[in-house]
Amino acid sequence: MLTDELSQIKETLKDVFGYSQFRGTQEEIIQSILAGRNTFVIMPTGAGKSLCYQLPAIVMSGTAIVISPLIALMKNQVDQLNAVGINAQFLNSTLSKAEITKVKKDVLNGEIRLLYVAPESLTKEENIDLLKRANISFVAVDEAHCISEWGHDFRPEYRKIRGIIENLGKNLPIIALTATATPKVQTDIQRNLDMDDAELFKSSFNRKNLYYEVRPKVDAKKQLIKYIKNHKGKSGIIYCLSRKKVEEIAELLSVNDIKALPYHAGLDASIRMANQDAFLNEDVDVIVATIAFGMGIDKPDVRFVIHYDAPKSLEGYYQETGRSGRDGLEGNCIMFYSYNDILKLEKFNKDKPVTERDNAKHLLQEMAAYAESSVCRRRQLLHYFGEQLDHDCGYCDNCLKPREKFEAQDDVVLAVQAVIQTESRFGVPHLVDVLRGVKNDYVISYGHDKLKLFGVGAEKDVAYWTSVYRQITIYNFLEKDVDVIGIARPSAKGLEFVDNPYPVTLTKDHDYSNVDEESD
Ligand code: ADP
Ligand code: ZN
Repeated sequence: MLTDELSQIKETLKDVFGYSQFRGTQEEIIQSILAGRNTFVIMPTGAGKSLCYQLPAIVMSGTAIVISPLIALMKNQVDQLNAVGINAQFLNSTLSKAEITKVKKDVLNGEIRLLYVAPESLTKEENIDLLKRANISFVAVDEAHCISEWGHDFRPEYRKIRGIIENLGKNLPIIALTATATPKVQTDIQRNLDMDDAELFKSSFNRKNLYYEVRPKVDAKKQLIKYIKNHKGKSGIIYCLSRKKVEEIAELLSVNDIKALPYHAGLDASIRMANQDAFLNEDVDVIVATIAFGMGIDKPDVRFVIHYDAPKSLEGYYQETGRSGRDGLEGNCIMFYSYNDILKLEKFNKDKPVTERDNAKHLLQEMAAYAESSVCRRRQLLHYFGEQLDHDCGYCDNCLKPREKFEAQDDVVLAVQAVIQTESRFGVPHLVDVLRGVKNDYVISYGHDKLKLFGVGAEKDVAYWTSVYRQITIYNFLEKDVDVIGIARPSAKGLEFVDNPYPVTLTKDHDYSNVDEESD
């Protein structure tokens, strides 16, 4: 990196953005883009991803193309950049013909530093034509997890991005950014954008100031009111699954003298806006919302996020809980859980196409595993995002109120051996059938009833073995396959362990079997 280029980016940081220093790895990321390398950024929300492409777009010649999934997000960024004197524009369906003509002219004149587009607009012939003629610096793919059908936010048009960029024939560097990517989603993004060579910048997802807790959904309304009253005057968000539930809970809180308002997509835009403002300005303490609430909300002192209903995925859960404690101070994340909620969510998925449905189901099962497990919550969450915490956190319900532990060396050996003997090609339910000696057609068709360990774990139930598998995955005896969902294979640690076993302590799962009915 040339010294004057370095001082130029520092100057721009100060002059345009008003910051004296870069945060985390922002500077290295910017250098990677300036050097023309494909760059992949995985950073939690609020860490400062936008600056990573905005700043190089400002100092480089040509226009940077920013692909973004939501018009609201684009508008937000364009407004902010324009406010500090940077010429950024978007191309989307909200513009008039005259406006579109003007934007196009400015792109061709090289006057626009950043051009925001939705993937849908990118595919339009006239826009491709424009980009072919324009001088482009690089392409940023924001919310890149939308590329992957294995995540929670799949947008099929995102899969076309690579083809379009190639079609421009300019050999443009790509920067992909996301705030959530499990290892599987990460691989999917890199493959789809054909950027296996990308320089990867992944920051930790650990939010040390957040406290995680899961409570059985028994008398949830009473628990909720009590909790909020114990945190009087503090800001909090209550997430519910349906609009109806949002209205109901907001009403319930109001009649209990709690200052609360509802927020969901079924409300008029003006009411939504007013309720959001009331929350931001602290006219009310609590906002009761569907997941429609929160995108781009930057209230630093949200002290609790309560999931009244179980969320659809751990990605969603992490994003939503991440809205608490953004100032680095206290943030309490509490989920009410009953397996009934998981079943309800599964019903919503039944009309989806097969792959989508299977994936949604898998995400839900991961969610259920998280709730039911007695393993440190933080360890589980971080593991989900591909991060290994080698000790318990001491700041979650499972750490503070540990469940009964048991010595499991022999069973862990069996569980890992079952994976090895079935050649790492099966999911946990099948492995559990093999260990328990279940002679179903599937097991027989693979000849797994002939395996030496077939039936060796028959005296223990499905829940027990499932729990053992979940735990040894988090403790890294097994690894998830990045190609096939739900398949595990032994890690190096697991292989070594079966040769030279040592004591392993596991924890009994929570028992939610009495939590079948919602308590209202
Ligand atoms: P993300 O896209 O990762 O969720 P944003 O790009 O919205 O995060 O940034 C979050 C906040 O951090 C914004 O208010 C942004 O202005 C601020 N920010 C970004 N970089 C810096 C920096 N180097 N110093 C101080 N504040 C920063
Ligand atoms: Zn913990």
